[in-house]
Order: sequence, then C-alpha cells, then structure tokens
Amino acid sequence: MPRRSIQELSSQLISQIAAGEVIERPASVVKELVENSVDAGADRVEVRIEGGGLQRILVSDNGCGIPKDELSLALKRHATSKVKSLEELEHVVTLGFRGEALASIESVADLRIQSRTPEANQAWQIHEGAVEPAPGMEPGTRIEVKDLFYKTPARRKFMKSESTENAHVVTQLERIALANPSVSLTLFTNGRQTMRLERGASHAARIADLMPKDFRGASREVDAQSGKWRLTGLIGLPTISRTRTEAQYFFVNGRFIRDRVMAHAVRAAYEDVLHGQAQPMYCLFLELPPDEVDANVHPTKTEVRFRESGRVHQFVTQAVKAVIAPPLSSDEGRPAFADS
Ligand code: ADP
Ligand code: MG
Repeated sequence: MPRRSIQELSSQLISQIAAGEVIERPASVVKELVENSVDAGADRVEVRIEGGGLQRILVSDNGCGIPKDELSLALKRHATSKVKSLEELEHVVTLGFRGEALASIESVADLRIQSRTPEANQAWQIHEGAVEPAPGMEPGTRIEVKDLFYKTPARRKFMKSESTENAHVVTQLERIALANPSVSLTLFTNGRQTMRLERGASHAARIADLMPKDFRGASREVDAQSGKWRLTGLIGLPTISRTRTEAQYFFVNGRFIRDRVMAHAVRAAYEDVLHGQAQPMYCLFLELPPDEVDANVHPTKTEVRFRESGRVHQFVTQAVKAVIAPPLSSDEGRPAFADS
C-alpha cells in the first residue's frame, strides 16, 4: 500500500476512539452519569432507561449542578472540575477525574444536559452546542442520552438483547448503590419502576437490600484496621458458598473494582473451610490513603494498582480469616484429653 501522509485526527474522531474504551454499552453510560451524580454530592438519583438504554437514558440528580457558563466545558474532552494538578490527581477522592465521559458519550449519542446550581434562579441546557434556558427545574442536573451508538453503527451491532442490556444496567447500579448507601436510587425501565433503594445510614442496610437472601442470616461483619488501612463490610459464612463467583463485591475507596489479587486475598482466607471450586460471597470495603492506590490504570477504572500490593493482600486475608476461621484460642485448641 502506498504510504499516506500523517494527519491529525479530528477531535470528533479522537472522542469516538476514546468512547470505544469507556462506553462499551448502555450500562457504561449509566455508570458514568450516576458516578457524576455521586461526585456532585447528590443524595437522590433517578435513572430511566428505554429500549435497553439504546433508545434513551435519563439520569436526574439533586447534586451541585453545573453553572450556565460551564455547560459547554463539561462536554469538552479533558475538562474536569475534579483535579487541577498531578498533586491533586494523586490524592483524588472523586469517582471521576479524567474529564472524558461526557465528551465520549456525546461523540456516540445525542446528549442533552439540563442543570441548575442552587444559586441560579433557573436551569440552563446544552444540546448540540446551543445553550438555552430550561425553565421549571429544581437545582440539580438532568442528563439525557438518546440513540446511543447511532453515530457508530459498528458498535451498535454488538449490543445484546434488551433484557441483557437492562441487566447490565442493574449490575452497574447495584455496585454504585452498595458503595453509596446514603444516596437514594430509583430505576425505571420502559416507564416501570424496577428498582428503588431508599437512602439509609449504613452499608449493612444496603447490603441486606442487595445481597442474595441467604446472605442475611449467614454473614459476619468485618472491621479491621492496620495503620491507615481499614477493611469493613460483610462476608458470607462457608455454609452459603456458591459454585461460581456470584455476589462478590470488593470496593477500594468507594470504587467497585475487579481485581484478581484482592479476589485471591479473600478466597485465601477461606482456604481451610471452602474446598474445591466453592466461592464465598462478600461485600468488602477497603479504605486506604488515596496516594497508596492508583485508579488511573484503565479508562473504566475497574482496575487499580496498590503501592504495596503484597501487604494489602496479607492484610485482607488476615482480616477476613480472623472472622471466618478464627485461630483456635489456646483453651479450645487444647486436645480434649491433655490434662486428664
Ligand atoms: P469527570 O467526571 O472525569 O470530571 P465528566 O466528563 O464525567 O468528567 O464530567 C465533566 C464535568 O462535568 C465534571 O468534572 C463536573 O464538573 C461536571 N458534571 C458532570 N455531571 C455532573 C452532575 N451530574 N452534576 C454536577 N456536575 C456534573
Ligand atoms: Mg465523570
């Protein structure tokens, strides 16, 4: 093939390429939008999806809103209100920080933002670059995404059935809900309410709402600390193990992660009480100083890197083991006939 000259990609194409990584399916849009609502301090989030989310996704929140003069910036790639410097990036506590989600979504769908800050006397909206008043809205943000992937038909062809896409949305919402018990979450699927989680004070109540029914009576609390590290949550007793991975949730600083090292650390704690392929159920929250964990590994941020991976592994295993299979105390451990 004859050589072609090097060209800069258009910003639209750059966004569409980036969107390929972050926006895999409708559930990815829901995840990004609801995480933005959580970052905005909302304690009430409503999600509406139609046609598996491909036709329409609407996320409304009562968070801090976006001022009128920042609406177009919100849609710009690499524009964010969450970090300003490398220093801040290393201590980031928000779920977002890449300033990519809204730009990515807009490059593959029809996106409309309506928002009102508490100070503003009315809401404003942005759609196809035009900023206009949006009367009759309480403070907060409403983001509507229509016709997902209509601009990138190749991706659209990869979508599964409507019910499968709906199920992915529910999975994403459950993860966010588990980590954010103080946020009330409602989901409407094709106009019908399909999920409603009231806001509560504790993780325990949320976990009870979302984990399988048999988990409730057969789980134990974990609360372990080592220096600045803390592991809390609930773990299932070996009696309610599963034959495949199900209901295994691990959060690092409020973010759901899928990490083989952490999954292994938890499973290792069960090694004496669960045999073969048996899998424990758990919902665990690891908190550690933000500069000891790097969430900037993958665009969807479901992977992290720990500064001291080996020690974190050990801490998690020990903390879980202490609850699930406590070492026999010297009394109990004594052979029955030793003193007689
Ligand atoms: P990021 O979350 O990484 O900053 P996004 O593209 O998701 O990037 O969002 C861009 C910016 O738009 C955010 O930094 C935030 O200032 C603003 N924003 C997005 N969604 C909301 C929301 N629901 N409420 C308030 N502000 C929002
Ligand atoms: Mg975001």
